Amino acid sequence: MTRIRVGLDVGGTKIDAVAVSPEGEIAGRLRRPTGWGEAAVVSSIVDAVSALAEETGFDLSDVASAGVGIPGLVDADSGRVLHAVNLGVESLDLAARAGERLGVPFRVENDVKAAALGAAALSGAEGAMAYLNLGTGVAAGIVVDGRIWRGSRGIAGEVGHLSVDPNGRLCGCGQRGCIETFCGGGALARAWGRPGDLPVRDLLVAADAGDPDALLLEAGLYQGAAAGVRVLVLSADVERVIIGGGLTALGARLEDGIRAALLAGAEASPFMRSLHLDERIELLPAGSPAAAFGAAMVGASIPSKEIVSHG
Ligand SMILES: [Zn+2]
Repeated sequence: MTRIRVGLDVGGTKIDAVAVSPEGEIAGRLRRPTGWGEAAVVSSIVDAVSALAEETGFDLSDVASAGVGIPGLVDADSGRVLHAVNLGVESLDLAARAGERLGVPFRVENDVKAAALGAAALSGAEGAMAYLNLGTGVAAGIVVDGRIWRGSRGIAGEVGHLSVDPNGRLCGCGQRGCIETFCGGGALARAWGRPGDLPVRDLLVAADAGDPDALLLEAGLYQGAAAGVRVLVLSADVERVIIGGGLTALGARLEDGIRAALLAGAEASPFMRSLHLDERIELLPAGSPAAAFGAAMVGASIPSKEIVSHG
């Protein structure tokens, strides 16, 4: 019997699912739309695992574990998800409900933390690394020697809510000038405030045309992300910061912009220059399976006695 590890990255619109072989290779991958609301989220996860098994050619009885990365507050011990607003989930006993439907042991983790694990594994990063997610919101996951560093209350890596400008724009958390108000997709869209399906792209187009509001927001985007990189290196001395999330669709322009902001910020400081922050960042490649792969690693951390008792 093969022992397949399934990993699912559950986003607001789609689920990215991978099947990982015992050798750690990705044996299959598919994307499915995510349902809205608690029952639909469970069903779309169950359907994704079933479809992945069928397409890849394994039985559900071959699945040793399934891991889910999902936004919101996640209690990794109980497998419960709270306040996943973009999924219409208030409180969901996800590991138990999905596990019951499929007869497979499930483990659940916050999506950014799962992606951090996957990014660390796929990049071969050793020691301490961080994954900085520039999505609708901004958060980071810190991985030390292949394990997520949670801190005492699970807050480690919540760098999006570090205020870097006390007079800045109001953040959803109640503070002003949080890093997230500069480089979170949701906050940027609100600050831009003009209609359009791709507000961040629109504002870059406007910046190219010389629009002063857009130029300020673009500069702030890079400075905010650079502040995130800086705090991760200064507080956890991570060797690499891998940048992922929806905003990485901006590609080289984003990477170059953050790098330039890091260089400019270090210009007057021999200490900051000595850290070579601009050399420590990289963008997660477009379409990377890091988040789903990391979720599979989360599932694989289920103790073997638990697998036997459920499976
Ligand atoms: Zn905030």
